[in-house]
Amino acid sequence: MTSPVLEGVGIRAGYGDVEVLRGIDIALPPKSVVALIGANGAGKTTLLKTISGLLPLRGGEIRINGEPIGGLAPHKVVEAGFVQSPEGKQLFPEMTITENLMVGAHSKRARARRDETMEEVFELFPILRERARQRAGTMSGGQQQMIAVGRALMALPKVLALDEPSLGLAPIMVSRLMESIEQIRHRDLSILIIEQNIFQVLKMADHAYVLENGEIAKQGGGQELLADPHLRSTYLGL
Ligand code: ATP
Repeated sequence: MTSPVLEGVGIRAGYGDVEVLRGIDIALPPKSVVALIGANGAGKTTLLKTISGLLPLRGGEIRINGEPIGGLAPHKVVEAGFVQSPEGKQLFPEMTITENLMVGAHSKRARARRDETMEEVFELFPILRERARQRAGTMSGGQQQMIAVGRALMALPKVLALDEPSLGLAPIMVSRLMESIEQIRHRDLSILIIEQNIFQVLKMADHAYVLENGEIAKQGGGQELLADPHLRSTYLGL
């Protein structure tokens, strides 16, 4: 088996006295799309925050290509290759699209390839090239989500994390975004995605983890979980 690009073993984390993640094991193979699903409060966002270095790792290990990243400051985790796409609101609304994208390329490694990466982002999202000089705040919700994903790509991630990218988007925009994610997967990176839109995300996920109460309750291939009777009734209402 190829070694995982991102690996977490026995991840524990929480807030104050509250333990939220109670020993999570995850692995992302190269060029994979891996989904995290589970009810509200299961701990999905907490897991991304812990990997990002925004919350302290209280136990276990996290590695990128075999190198430990647990305990590193958030900017060091970005440099190591784990980059989370900011939610639409975290864009700079007064800045142009190009300026917002450039913010993503602040590490030395990313700066060196900035123009090439921006060209790739424009190929992925042609509307961003057309509107390159427009202020980000004037774009629609779906377009802002594209800027956010583009900005994360500018940091040259090995793993791109997306926390509910389709939140608040019209169904047509959700489909377009999912198509873009399908295209991104062919690049040399893996995607870790939290999504309430479980049906759509499982259709394209190579693997998915179901979180319940801070533990992995179930895991499997996307198609396999789509066929799972318990999952269908609990999360898909079928
Ligand atoms: P959602 O889809 O609602 O975001 P989630 O699976 O991402 O759900 P988390 O946001 O990770 O869940 O929350 C897991 C648990 O941690 C919940 O019980 C939540 O109340 C708690 N929690 C989250 N953020 C904080 C915080 N800043 N301080 C204290 N408790 C928190």
